[in-house]
Amino acid sequence: MLSNFFSKPKNSIAKRCRDDEVTRLRKRYNPYYHTFERQNGSRVIRDGKEYVMLCSNDYLGLSHHPKVIEAAKQGLDDWGSSTTGARLANGSRKYHTELEEKFAAFIGKEACHISVAGYISCMSSVQSFAQKGDIVLVDKNVHSSLWAGIGLTQAQVERFAHNNPADLKEVLSFEKPEAPKIVVFEGVYSMEGHIGRVPEIIEVCRDQNCFFIMDDAHGFGVMGPGGRGTAAHFGVQDEVDVITGSFSKSLSSTGGFVAGSKDIIEYLRTHSKQTIFSAAISPPQAYAASASLDILQNEPEHHKRLWENTNRYKEMLRNLGLDIWDSETPAVPIIMGQKEKAYRFWQALLEKGVFSIMSIAPAVPPGKDLIRTSMSARHTEEDLEIVAEAMAYAVKKI
Ligand code: PMP
Repeated sequence: MLSNFFSKPKNSIAKRCRDDEVTRLRKRYNPYYHTFERQNGSRVIRDGKEYVMLCSNDYLGLSHHPKVIEAAKQGLDDWGSSTTGARLANGSRKYHTELEEKFAAFIGKEACHISVAGYISCMSSVQSFAQKGDIVLVDKNVHSSLWAGIGLTQAQVERFAHNNPADLKEVLSFEKPEAPKIVVFEGVYSMEGHIGRVPEIIEVCRDQNCFFIMDDAHGFGVMGPGGRGTAAHFGVQDEVDVITGSFSKSLSSTGGFVAGSKDIIEYLRTHSKQTIFSAAISPPQAYAASASLDILQNEPEHHKRLWENTNRYKEMLRNLGLDIWDSETPAVPIIMGQKEKAYRFWQALLEKGVFSIMSIAPAVPPGKDLIRTSMSARHTEEDLEIVAEAMAYAVKKI
């Protein structure tokens, strides 16, 4: 048969792909790569059935806001579909520099550099600044994008226990105080929902020649006054040297940013391979992010509603006796502890019209297999009722 002909591995790497354990696992547990036919606000449609989307990162619910849609269309009208080139060579467009200035001012930094994805921003921030001879101290639970940047450096890498300044202090005690160090952590941890213990991290690093890189992909738009992020929440914008983030969460677009002092950002622009050799963010992406940033500043009701929904949702989960790993944010894990249990819980939610994500080791630490859920300002009363019923059903089922 023709399908057999195509699926037959022709060499050992193709065979490795076919036999790969993770790929097999994905086939066995099927919560990944689903295709939805349509989306209606907070609901997605799959095979004609409607589900409450409980795992998007659309925290402020702006992805269908009329002003965001209008702005993205305007971006196409003004500049076409793409810049089709890197800014270093092909030049920046006015909307790039304007958006960077707007971001920097909002975050409380001098300058900002935007790129096509948060992943690229995180990766490039570590890759650009860490050199051979530097020591990178990294929270062991940081996002893959930061590890990808670390993987590209020749720096010495030391891990510290998740969100544990005391362990960081211990790790630091083995290094010379004057040795150049880069400390990598997050403002909000997306799997755990934990807020980074940023002031304590800064405190234990005092007089240790440390440069701080904080990824705030899940804190921007969520934490701090008016959603200015986790550094603003703690009032430490000046101490954190580099703040990275994503447009694909609260800002309902795609793209990413790195914010810091003018010198730091200028250095990044000429040392980030991901920037020098890759095309700039497209006009509709940048326009949408810009419109979302305006909405964040001018329509505080979305931020307020996000936290109201989050508090209600967490209370509902706690009343059901579910373990939410002490989540402090709208990213809310439900700990299952084992793959099979997580899968049955995920299926039970699906049966009752709720779509969530199952996250299993190695994406999460061993014994922490979980269902990742998140709240959005766009979730309605009715959505929360459906979620409550589905959760109660899933609890009974496992
Ligand atoms: N950092 C964190 C903590 C994330 O969760 C993500 C996306 N899941 C990223 C960075 C990358 O963001 P983007 O989707 O914009 O590439």
